This record gives sequence, structure tokens and C-alpha cells, in this order.
Amino acid sequence: MKDVIIGLEVHVQLNKLRSKLFCSCSTQYHDSEPDTHTCPVCLGLPGALPVTNGKAVDNAIKVALALNCNIEEWTMFYRKNYYYPDLVKGFQISQYDYPIATNGSISLETEGGERTIRIKRVHMEEDPGRLVHVGTIDKSKYSLIDYNRSGVALLEVVTEPDLRTPKEARLFLNKLKNILEYLDVFDSSLEGSLRVDANISIAGGKRAEIKNISSYKGVEKALLFEIVRQNNLVRRGVKVVQETRHFDEVRGITISLRTKEGEEDYRYFPEPDLVPITIVDRVDDIKKTLPELPDAKRQRFVLQYGISDNHAKVLISELGLANFFETVATEVDANLSATWIADVLKGELNYRDLDISAFSPGHMVQILQMLKKDTITENGAVQVIRTILDEGGTPLDIVERKGLQPKMGAEASGNITLRVIEENPDAFQDFCKGKNEAMHFLMGQVMKETHGTVDRSTVIELLNKSKKEKLQNASDNHREA
Ligand code: ZN
Ligand code: MN
Repeated sequence: MKDVIIGLEVHVQLNKLRSKLFCSCSTQYHDSEPDTHTCPVCLGLPGALPVTNGKAVDNAIKVALALNCNIEEWTMFYRKNYYYPDLVKGFQISQYDYPIATNGSISLETEGGERTIRIKRVHMEEDPGRLVHVGTIDKSKYSLIDYNRSGVALLEVVTEPDLRTPKEARLFLNKLKNILEYLDVFDSSLEGSLRVDANISIAGGKRAEIKNISSYKGVEKALLFEIVRQNNLVRRGVKVVQETRHFDEVRGITISLRTKEGEEDYRYFPEPDLVPITIVDRVDDIKKTLPELPDAKRQRFVLQYGISDNHAKVLISELGLANFFETVATEVDANLSATWIADVLKGELNYRDLDISAFSPGHMVQILQMLKKDTITENGAVQVIRTILDEGGTPLDIVERKGLQPKMGAEASGNITLRVIEENPDAFQDFCKGKNEAMHFLMGQVMKETHGTVDRSTVIELLNKSKKEKLQNASDNHREA
């Protein structure tokens, strides 16, 4: 991809707050009838006065600190004027010249190594209402508006144009989400909790702004589409114009909405109903409340538990998973825990679209203890995990109910493997030549004979040992001859 430049403006709902940014209406509107969480302030009725939610300011500072930003001494709100039906007052209370924080960064682990993505600013603003278009935005005959969302606290995180590929954009968003969840200010599972405006230009051309992309995958898809679209224009000798586009998730394309308004069109001016807020005196106290963040946790896991960095990376990807690991690792061997949680359990959860709360750490401890004592096999342990997720139950019950056998001793399983090799000389010959099917065949025979009570890894080890001996003998014979 040539000279792709991407910058993101990420709107994050501070949705762990109980009330909205400038009124006391509840933010818990997701299962409510439209327009039931509203008041004169968030409906923009004449004479209603906003009051800033102090907890929202604290949460914003928390995020800004975690993003390595400079926190300003004081901050103030502006009116951003534009007319759109989701905006009750005809302006949005937002920030302009004096945002809460500037000059932050997030470090990303990309295929090309570690990259630092600069964050230009972090500012607070109110969420507009929610528009529901029947069908698609460009064909819809009418739109519905729900003002329950009007006035919910948003944080806008604006990056410098430092991202180079759609994939990097996705990595950035995942990292940001990870940090926000560690800070306990954000629940990503709520609909519309994170919305992205993505700016993208190619080879020095004009940039398109794709508005309001509401899913993580959507951002990557929309950007990939834009690269193709803009490249095609350039190839045909057509100039890319600066404009605002909409991403249609269903069709996977972007559509032109309007040529982009300039900043002056918004007629920003200071919000006369709110006074500037001094924030510098809150920073030290908030710093003390910052939890351990993902990168620090990853390093600590490697140092403290001696697990691989790859396992640590998977385990810290969700706070719940990281905590689960620590609970289990205090009871059983940390490396065994990391392997089974990161490689096996996480995979089984993903497959079922479940999160870690679906599994009890106590059950994991029991399973690992059985594995350590060889009272179940690796296959058996996987079966227990799957059964718990699919049907429920406890590890001990399941072992009994399914008649799972203890692991066969090394000597017995060795003897059976050797017998299988002897009885199937052709297959073993093929295995020595590196044929995969032969390996599967021999494995199948051993599993049949042992009723699956020997670990695959043990069998593979034994097969490889026999192979080595055979090759060794062959070359010795060759030398003698
Ligand atoms: Zn309200
Ligand atoms: Mn905004």
C-alpha cells in the first residue's frame, strides 16, 4: 500500500457513569423506551441550564493520564453549532481551544515492530440523540430519533495522522478499548459505546472523513474500501475531493454525504452557561487511583510467573481473563495455568462467543490438579472444559459421568506404541519418510488400543524416538557394510 495516511477521532461513551454530562438523567437507557431518560436540559428546552458532572471530568482525566497525555491546568466548554435533527439545541456542547488534555501516545505492536501513535488531544463533549434510519441512510424515507442518548458524556480521542494501514487502525482501537476497560470507565459491550470517524488520504491527495463507524471491524473494512476507491480515482486521473462519507456496514461501502464543512462553519464560541473548570488540582489524587495498565501487567506476568510473553499477551487482552489467570496461578503451576487458559480455554470460549465469566477459576484449578496427578489425560481435560461450557457441571462429576480414564503410565503406553509400530511396519516406514497420514494412522491405532488414555504428545514423542533409532540403525548398518 502506498503512502496511506490515517487519523482517527474516536468517540467513547463514558458509560460507567450513572448520569449524563450536564444533567442528572440516567445513562442506563439501553433497554428503555425512546425519550424516557430525558429532561429540559438534555432536550434543550429554553431556559434550562447545564451543570457539569464532576465524576465525568475525573473519568476523562483518568483516561488522559492512561494515554500519557499532558493534563491542562484548566479547561472550558464551547458551543459547536450545526443543524442536525439528533442535536436538540442546534449546537453541541464540546471543547475547542482548551481541551482537557493534549500530546499523548499509545504504543502498538505491529508486524513491522513497535509503533508509537501520537494522540493530539482528548476532549469532552455531549452525545447527540440516536437516529434510526429505516433501511439505509441514503435511501431511507424517514428517520426516527431517540433522545435517551442526548447528553451522555463522550470522550473524543483524536490521533495524529500516524496510522499507516487499516489493520493498524484496528490494533489501535483494540488497545484503546483494552485500556478503557482496565480503567473501569467504559463498557464496550453496549451498543454504540464507541464510534469512530476515520480520516484517510492516499499519496498526498485530499482526505475523506468517514463518519460514525460503530464497530471495530467496520473501521478496518471502511478504510480498506476507501483505499480501493481512492486508488481507482487516482488511476483514472480523477481528483479525490475532500468530503464526509458514511460507511454502510451492510453493503460494506462508503457513500458521499456532503463535502466536508470547514471548522469555521461550526462557529465555535465559549459556552456562556458554563464556567471554566480548574483541573490541575485534581490530577494527583486521580493518579493514585490509576490501576495497573495492560502493558505493565504483561511485563509483570512474564517476570513474576515466568510465563512466555505470548501467553502474557493473550492473558492481559481482557481484564477478566488476567484476573482469572492470577487466581488459578496461585493454586497450581503458573506455566501450566497459562498454557491451559491462554491456549485451550480462551479458544473454547471464543468458539462459543463467551467471555471468561462463563467459567469458574475453581473448576480450572481442579482440572489442572487432575492433569498434574495424571488422573485425567490432556484429551480428557479438554472434554471436561467443553462439557462445562456446553452442559454445565463440575469437573469431578464430568470425569465420572463420561467415564474418563486416568492417564496410562509411561511404561504401558510405551509398550503399546511399540507394539503398534511392530504390527504396522509399512505405516511406520511411511511415517519415517515424513508422511503425515501415516502419523495419523499410527496415532489412531494407539488411541484405539489405549481407549484414549495416553496423551497425543507422549505418543508423538515415542514415535519420533523410534524413528530416530531406526534411522540411526540404518546409518550404522550402512557404515558397517
Ligand atoms: Zn437530562
Ligand atoms: Mn466529536
